[in-house]
Amino acid sequence: MIKKRVFTPGPTPIHPDASIVMAGPALHHRKREFKEIFRETVANLKTMYKTTHDVLLFSSSGTGAMESAVVNLVSPGAKVVVGSVGKFGERWENLCKQYGMRAAVIRKNYGESIEAAEVDAHLEKDPEIEAVFIQGTESSTGAAMDLEAIGAVVARHPRVISVVDAITTLGAAPLHTDEWRLDVVIGGSQKALMIPPGLAFVSISPKAWERSRQSKTPRFYFDWKREYENQIKGQTAFTPAVNLVQALHQATRFILTDGVDDLIANAALLARMTREAAKAWGFSLFATRPANALTAIAIPAPLDAEAIVSDLEDSFGAAIAGGQGEMKGKILRVAHLGYYDAIDLLGLLGAMECVLRKRRPGTELGKGVSAALGVLAAETAQRLTGDRGTADN
Ligand SMILES: *Cc1c(COP(=O)(O)O)cnc(C)c1O
Repeated sequence: MIKKRVFTPGPTPIHPDASIVMAGPALHHRKREFKEIFRETVANLKTMYKTTHDVLLFSSSGTGAMESAVVNLVSPGAKVVVGSVGKFGERWENLCKQYGMRAAVIRKNYGESIEAAEVDAHLEKDPEIEAVFIQGTESSTGAAMDLEAIGAVVARHPRVISVVDAITTLGAAPLHTDEWRLDVVIGGSQKALMIPPGLAFVSISPKAWERSRQSKTPRFYFDWKREYENQIKGQTAFTPAVNLVQALHQATRFILTDGVDDLIANAALLARMTREAAKAWGFSLFATRPANALTAIAIPAPLDAEAIVSDLEDSFGAAIAGGQGEMKGKILRVAHLGYYDAIDLLGLLGAMECVLRKRRPGTELGKGVSAALGVLAAETAQRLTGDRGTADN
């Protein structure tokens, strides 16, 4: 038997409540029932973002919301800073270039993270810079950025807006939009939100709204102002992906039952288990500062990461990700986003050991799983003690 499972950094497993509602009857997007669902969904997103800023929802993949930030915030010819340590940083670069912005790129090796001090150096050097585009998690390398420190640096410069692609950060790592003074924060549906691709979100600070009024870049579908005027009324300017909004409504309800912090703690636990397994197999991590959202494992030659990916798919129906571009064949990426638990991960790690044993004769079975179990058992013991402690009081 082959049961298909996705362990990729998007798409991710769908929550059953979301699947059920998507199979139900269609709602009309201009009727009251939809408006109520829409409003509650946006309110839930704000809770997840830890923000009181406006949050707009678009029917597009995550890149659509990234493009919306570029066109609404800066005019052609504007000077911006882009942090680029992987394929998604390169997406910011391409977007800014395409719209005629002048981008100073902080480029570092794949696997490294952009540091707040490097952003600060650019902002101090050039007072004409208007915005900083960055990732919270660079999903192509598994690297995490220190958004708190970067937010603080940008906030010291009144002219500058911070724009964060937090598509794999939201629901996977701590994200305090308001407290960290992040102006624009982008999320996407197919990552920790437990629903299919097709929705993207953007939070907008008052400072970012002010800036958007000055942007001369043409925009139509992604015009924030028009969307805002509709969305405060529980509507969208154009027909939204109605069934995905219904799905997101269910998924965010599920997430907020225990709270976003629990979802983040789950991702952190799965990440720790995976990192320990990778080390026990004798591999190193690709990222210098590994993210919660996913673990990128460096696969040394002569092993071919792509062969491991296809073996897992062929023998077990398990989809993990390989590397993109120059990283192809050299890394494996295992996601910890959204609706996964420790039992899913233990199964995957066991399957990975079978595949590794075939590809690298001499691989001792159980080493990685055992290391992951060590992490899980310690966490479980702590949780049980914690619960009993509460009950006794
Ligand atoms: C998934 C992802 C995106 C969005 O990509 P789409 O394919 O447009 O949804 C953007 N940035 C990061 C860091 C991502 O992981």
